[in-house]
Amino acid sequence: MAERAIPIADLRYAAATPRIPEQLTPPSGLLADRLGRPLHDLRISVTDRCNFRCSYCMPKEIFTNDYGFLPQSSLLSFEEITRLARIFVAHGVHKLRLTGGEPLLRKNVEKLIEMLSALRTPEGQPLDLTLTTNATLLARKAQALKDAGLKRVTVSLDALDDAVFRRMNDVDFPVADVLAGIEEARRVRLGPLKVNMVVKRGTNDHEIVPMARWFREHYDGQVILRFIEFMDVGASNGWRMDDVLPSAQVRQRIHEVFPLEPTAPNAVGETAQRWRYADGRGEIGLISSVTQAFCGDCNRARLSTEGRLYLCLFASQGQDLRSLLRGGASDEQIAAAIGLIWQERGDRYSELRGAQQADAGSGRRRVEMHYIGG
Ligand code: SAM
Repeated sequence: MAERAIPIADLRYAAATPRIPEQLTPPSGLLADRLGRPLHDLRISVTDRCNFRCSYCMPKEIFTNDYGFLPQSSLLSFEEITRLARIFVAHGVHKLRLTGGEPLLRKNVEKLIEMLSALRTPEGQPLDLTLTTNATLLARKAQALKDAGLKRVTVSLDALDDAVFRRMNDVDFPVADVLAGIEEARRVRLGPLKVNMVVKRGTNDHEIVPMARWFREHYDGQVILRFIEFMDVGASNGWRMDDVLPSAQVRQRIHEVFPLEPTAPNAVGETAQRWRYADGRGEIGLISSVTQAFCGDCNRARLSTEGRLYLCLFASQGQDLRSLLRGGASDEQIAAAIGLIWQERGDRYSELRGAQQADAGSGRRRVEMHYIGG
């Protein structure tokens, strides 16, 4: 599966030290970057480890047992994550998504969820607190996650055909156990539940219609299936445009069997375009980050496992917030530093790639997705 996996340069150490401005302006909740984009979502990677070896993300050939995953001492503690999250919320973040790596592998992650679920927006509202998982541990943990205050989950599942799925995760993990995780998450009401399928042409694109059929028919329109274009994140997955099946073709294939109609986005900056089934049996989402870049309203920041702030999934350098946390900076100083970083943000990698201005595919170094957080 990972025949084109290529060795990667380790970019984890490429980080800048954030500048603390002299004037410590308190967060107003109304930050905007150079393109006028607000800061709304924060994705937090809680571990760089994963128990899958998907060829498009962490190919086995590179991420071996000897791979230098981060030591425990490098990881942000739950207190450090919560402290930063509180500052981001003061800057306008309303949504927190835990990711990784596989977030459910982080020991006692429910404790972190409990701490984050106690945060409130400046208006006193609870946050939209969610998590993306491969569901290997979901059946076991769903109740504890719910009790800790998690609102909903997104599950990754790339095929219903067991052989295809086992090949893609490359650790021989069965579909049935992911479906059991989905069942349990539904039972404890971690919803609305979303399922992400990364589509790779020639690998699992024949699973598009069976996946659509399954999620329409088994969950009464209550599970939202989203199709993600295979992206050129990181440098290890041997990405080629030929392997990308454009979302327009995904939509067409489903539409021929189950007619679809467009529907309005739920929120500004939403990653997926929504399409509903004309017969009322739910909806799907299309995430077209390759063929229809959506940088224009990107309001997401990413916090890596060791506390580096990334402003784009395709970034090659982060800002080392951990050095501020562990170097004795005050909340006011950290807030001001984050404010400055966001105000200076001008990233729009996917749009530039679309316009063929970026050096996509020509060896530009990008940080790996399991590290930065998917
Ligand atoms: N382990 C968790 C999971 O499986 O959902 C969270 C981390 S994973 C990196 C987050 C999401 O990124 C998954 O849905 C995964 O399929 C997706 N992903 C990883 N590499 C990708 C790529 N090259 N293109 C598109 N999506 C990708």
